[in-house]
Amino acid sequence: MLAFRLILLLLLAYLVFVILWFFFSSRTKRLNRSEEDRPNQEHELVRCLHCQNYAPRAEGLISRGRYFCSERCARLFVKAP
Ligand SMILES: [Zn+2]
Repeated sequence: MLAFRLILLLLLAYLVFVILWFFFSSRTKRLNRSEEDRPNQEHELVRCLHCQNYAPRAEGLISRGRYFCSERCARLFVKAP
């Protein structure tokens, strides 16, 4: 009977360990994911070379290595002397 209790105790301890491990590992994964979702380069504000306005990098475009807030600005900048 003592051996049965010991096995049951070990099983219980193992179960608690697995639950705790699962809880902490899923929590860490969630934290890592939220770090990835954090505003990064796409949400970074960049100044348009033509109109000097700041716009999110993802919304504008890059023409010849220069950043513009819109296609219109890029065209106007190229046309300008
Ligand atoms: Zn612009």
